[in-house]
Amino acid sequence: MENIYQNADLIVQTTKGCTMDCKGCYLAKPGKSTELDTETYRAEIAKLQKGNVVALRGGEITKINNWFAKFVAPAIKMGLMVVIESNGHFIEANNYNEVLEGMKNPAIDVNISCDKIHLGNKNPAQKEEEFAKMARFASDATERGINFGFYALMSTEEIPDFVEGTALAEYLGKFHALPFYADISQVSLHGKYLNCEGRISDKIPR
Ligand code: SF4
Repeated sequence: MENIYQNADLIVQTTKGCTMDCKGCYLAKPGKSTELDTETYRAEIAKLQKGNVVALRGGEITKINNWFAKFVAPAIKMGLMVVIESNGHFIEANNYNEVLEGMKNPAIDVNISCDKIHLGNKNPAQKEEEFAKMARFASDATERGINFGFYALMSTEEIPDFVEGTALAEYLGKFHALPFYADISQVSLHGKYLNCEGRISDKIPR
């Protein structure tokens, strides 16, 4: 989905826990494992209308045990459109194939963060591995008809240089630029933001 902030009716911070520690992350303390209570989550999505868009993020949602059953499945059951925002952690998880099956639902869009910030201080060999991992998902998702895209905190003009010569070069068309993301607390939301402590707000606080 091109711009979550202008399209999502509810953006949900499912957890503050993350598998990464990116410089400049919007979370005050990424890595802290507070998780959103599923009762609170279900009560909030019950206020939405069929066809509304719920965006699920963290931290890293796919770090949560049974994340798909806890957060994605209930929203799908209610007829909502679901955007899963991830750093790609699920691609190496034991249940990857099972998750891919679930993602085949046309009401799901998988948005993977892939940019210089998320590659952080990885060395060249680790970066190559990361691109190969993302390319594996891109190939698997394409084969299965899964809706997906890569999202980069950079301008549209910078993206070709970023992917050139990598395993993701053939998926350049799946990249989307998010140049406005520098200060998340200044981004206007179309809908509401539910944080992992169960608080609703009109902005995403830093
Ligand atoms: S992957 Fe996303 S949530 Fe996790 S530390 Fe990096 S920017 Fe923050």
